[in-house]
Formats: sequence, C-alpha cells, structure tokens
Amino acid sequence: MQIKVADTLKKLPPYLFVEIDRAKRKARQEGKDLIDLGIGDPDTPTPGHIIEALYAAAKDPRNHRYALDAGMLELREEIACWYKERFGISLSAADEILPLIGSKEGIAHIPFAFLNKNDVSLVPDPAYPAYRNATILAGGKPHIMPLLEKNAFLPELGAVPKTVLKRAKLLFLNYPNNPTSAVVPQAFLKEAVAFAKKHGIIICFDLAYSEMCFDGYAAPAILPIRGAKDVAVEFHSLSKTYNMTGWRIGWVCGNKEIVAAVAKIKSNIDSGIFQAIQCAGIAALKTDNAFIRNMSQMYKERRDVLVEGLQGMGWNVVPTKATFYVWAKIPQKTSSIDFCNHLLQDNGVVATPGVGFGKYGEGYLRFALTQKTEKIREALQRLARV
Ligand SMILES: *Cc1c(COP(=O)(O)O)cnc(C)c1O
Repeated sequence: MQIKVADTLKKLPPYLFVEIDRAKRKARQEGKDLIDLGIGDPDTPTPGHIIEALYAAAKDPRNHRYALDAGMLELREEIACWYKERFGISLSAADEILPLIGSKEGIAHIPFAFLNKNDVSLVPDPAYPAYRNATILAGGKPHIMPLLEKNAFLPELGAVPKTVLKRAKLLFLNYPNNPTSAVVPQAFLKEAVAFAKKHGIIICFDLAYSEMCFDGYAAPAILPIRGAKDVAVEFHSLSKTYNMTGWRIGWVCGNKEIVAAVAKIKSNIDSGIFQAIQCAGIAALKTDNAFIRNMSQMYKERRDVLVEGLQGMGWNVVPTKATFYVWAKIPQKTSSIDFCNHLLQDNGVVATPGVGFGKYGEGYLRFALTQKTEKIREALQRLARV
C-alpha cells in the first residue's frame, strides 16, 4: 500500500532541529568535541524537593488512576496563589486555570478550538515554531508578522492588512521572547489588548520565560492589563523556571470561555497529567524565591561572558534583560544554516540558525546559555577562529 499523509502534514516544513541533531550526532561519532549552545534546555537539574515530592506521590495508589481532565484542584489553587504573588491579580482556580502537559501542548491545541477552515492566526517570525505549525495542522492559515530589530522585535499590529484581520482569530505573542530575547513594554501590551478587542481576536501570550529575568527586570503578564481578561489567555510553563522540561507540566490561564474551549479539545485527546507529576508541580510552585534569583544570576553571568566576548570580537550583540538566549547577527555574508554548519564542522560550536525560527530569523543565529561559564569561554576561543 502506498502510505499517503494528510495535506496539512505535507505543508509543515521539515523540522530543522531534527536535522541539526543528526549533524551533531554525526560529528560526535567522528570524534569531534562539541560545545553545544544549541538547545534551549536547562543544563542544571530539577531541585531535589520537587523530585522528593514526585517519589512520595508516585507511591500513593490514588495517584495511579486516570487524572481529572481539569487537573487537581490543589494544583489549580497553587497556580492561582503563585500568580497572585507574582503578578498581583486573582484568578479563579475553578474556571480560569487549566493545567497542561507542558505549555507546548496547549499552544498546539488552541488553534483546534478556534480556527475554522482558512481562518487566520497572527504569528510572529522569528518565533517558537509551534504557533505556525499548529495553526496549519488545525486547517488554519498563519499570517506572518515580522519581528525586526528596528522595531525592538515587536510586531507592527497596524501593518496587518484589513482583509487578513477579518479572518484573524488568534494572535500569538511571546515575551520574554524566544529566540530574540526581546522583552515587551507595558504600552505594547495595552496596544495589543485594544487591537484584539477592536478586531475580535484572541491573544495567546506565551510566558515560558517569565522568571528568567536579569538586572532587576521583572517580565510583565498581560492579564493584569485592563480589559485583557476579555480577550486573552497566557501559557505558562514549569519547564524553564524549575528545570523541568522533561516532566511535561504547564498551564493556560485567563478568559474562562477560552480556557473551557481548550479543555474541551484536551478532554477529547488526552486524559490529564499523571497526578504524581501534578503533586511535583505543586511542590515546584512552592519553591523558595531564592532558587529563581540564583538561577537568574547564573544565566546573567553566562550572558555577560558570552556577550562581552562576542562584542570583543566585533560581533553585533547586546545584553538583554531576559531568557537564556543570545540572538546574534551573523558576522559574515552567508546563510544562517551554512554559518552554523561551519561553526559545527570547523569550530566545534553548536548554535541554532535563525532561519529555523522563520524567514525573518535569517541573518542571525541563536546561542543558548546552557553551558557553564568555563565552557562558554572555551567556545569563545573557538569562535575567535571563525
Ligand atoms: C520552551 C518553550 C515552550 C514550551 O514549554 P513546555 O512547557 O516545555 O512545553 C513554549 N514556548 C516557548 C517560547 C518556549 O521556548
């Protein structure tokens, strides 16, 4: 039989990161010593008390059954408590918070809840690929909003054509931003809420890096903006905040009708998060704030070493206030894929080509600060030979 995949699947680009992985493995097999600044995955372990909470919960047979689709009430209450302390507003644990199997899961499912055929999602570029790809999988059309350096990597909402606005149902925003590490001013969030209200568009605000901030900066949420709860939801993740990428836990919160629609999609697809992981999530959210301060300090030191080192070699990079990424303009006139291949093959340094995040990422590469400072220094020595 000839196996034929759905047209939507054919429309998805090949996942560049899988190809980079293959190139990395091959280089390692050939005996190359690589310094990997490619992956956005914390290199330090999950805190011990979270692991202990998992042990304890895993031993309790009550946690072995199917979990509630809506997540444990205790977890939702803990999220509400964390949110109130961090952002100063109250969310209802009953209907404004829905735990997710990692925030990517919710981001990938929300288009299925709101897009009819050929409806549009407004998607930034460069960006986390799930916004665009999930839109396509759901039968929708992504409309690309370029994130340009001259606009501080904020999209120009006023530049979206009227004909597109008529069919637009979702607007994806992500600040602190992956991959550019840009942050968002309050004024832009206000503008986005007004824009969404005017055109009847749902805002999906991705806050995966809300706690990875430096130099006294605290990233803003969108829900505290007046009127935002009428039009917006936020996606939060424990992955980057508590070194829990493999655990798969996050949440969506905000407008209760939007949250309910995501819950309906999920109830038809998955059967909740393993309860022991939810218990570990509760323990994570109770973590002493000192943990986040220390983690941010660690990434800040790494950022300073990398940014100062690159600047010293004439690269065009600036230190940013958040995320563990450095978004660097490529110092040569080559494509980002060729340049990253060259770094991998000839310098033993892995970075991610900007084009992997969309065509407006071309001309850049992304370094992830997921190696110790000694390794980053060594990477700089290797980059001096570029
Ligand atoms: C890592 C990341 C996520 C996904 O986080 P999970 O909760 O692990 O699914 C979402 N958005 C952005 C921008 C990310 O970088």
